[in-house]
Amino acid sequence: MTRTGQCNQCGTCCKLAGYITKLTAEHLEWAQARGFEVNQMPGSPYAQVLIPHTCPHLRDGTACDLHGDNKPKTCREFPTVPEHLLPGCGFSFEEVN
Ligand code: SF4
Ligand code: SF4
Repeated sequence: MTRTGQCNQCGTCCKLAGYITKLTAEHLEWAQARGFEVNQMPGSPYAQVLIPHTCPHLRDGTACDLHGDNKPKTCREFPTVPEHLLPGCGFSFEEVN
């Protein structure tokens, strides 16, 4: 898979914590009981479990106050796999033959 596109600075990934998992029925019930958003990934056995959490470095809803090497590496490289993609993200992934 190759990532294409670019960050449109929507800020969505800065307002969520979460993880990717293969859900069991018990896990789904646990997550939903806590109000976490659960997105089964199309064509994938994995689901996103999304927990509302806004990063303290987010300014004005979409702007990060860290720049260059001061921005965490995980933020600079996100998303790294298709399962990371969030609604409205400017990136996409394409199969490479
Ligand atoms: S450090 Fe910046 S890019 Fe990373 S989550 Fe926080 S606001 Fe977003
Ligand atoms: S969800 Fe995608 S487009 Fe939006 S800020 Fe995060 S990486 Fe950028």
